[in-house]
Amino acid sequence: SEEAIIRSEKLSLIGQLAAGIAHDIRNPLTSLKGFVHLLKAKKADYVDVMMEELEHINYVVNEFMTLAKPHLHFYMESKTQELVQSVVGFLQPHTHLYNVQIQLNMQQDVPAIYCNPDQIKQVLLNVLKNAIESMTGGGFIRISSRKLNHSLVICVEDQGVGITEERLSQLGEPFFTTKVNGNGLGLMVCKRIIEGHGGKLSIRSQINLGTTVEIELPFKKIMA
Ligand code: ADP
Ligand code: MG
Repeated sequence: SEEAIIRSEKLSLIGQLAAGIAHDIRNPLTSLKGFVHLLKAKKADYVDVMMEELEHINYVVNEFMTLAKPHLHFYMESKTQELVQSVVGFLQPHTHLYNVQIQLNMQQDVPAIYCNPDQIKQVLLNVLKNAIESMTGGGFIRISSRKLNHSLVICVEDQGVGITEERLSQLGEPFFTTKVNGNGLGLMVCKRIIEGHGGKLSIRSQINLGTTVEIELPFKKIMA
């Protein structure tokens, strides 16, 4: 349902944010714990309190990490046609609501992609949701894919309101939104995920004609 779609976008966001925050807290935490241990010999009573507090933060961070981890490290061979189909199915209520029709034109004989399928589905969800929401008067969205050297390019074209050149340069910045109920985080998450896969996300647009989002993903991830 519509509610499930919105919830899924929010959940992924929480996972992404949690991963970032947990990572940022963990390093200073580890270093602090080391120094507190060193101090303990001199001021045992204060240090016990400090240690307890640190353990508590450590517990919270570990909880955060488990929340975020499966999204970060679970890579496998995945067929993009199947990922696309599952997201398109999931978005059916949204598509229906906006009077939009989705046309699939996926190349069938392409290799699988080594990726985190949940994250790639999240990218497709965010991009498609934007495409749907850009077409207040209904219309068509075309999803196609093609091979390009060692990558697969997934292309999402809409017939929506388009994006001005000025705004195009701000896309992917957090909290940039033109929607009343938007959060301006969808594209930022997309960019992060795609870059994490060693890929590229690019957007072209023409006012009142539509927008094309191209997601380029290498078949095999080149380890950084
Ligand atoms: P949100 O959807 O919450 O606004 P996003 O990061 O997904 O946040 O998108 C940011 C902004 O980029 C949108 O508010 C919209 O102005 C613009 N945008 C993104 N995709 C499209 C699209 N396909 N057509 C027109 N505008 C778009
Ligand atoms: Mg969005």
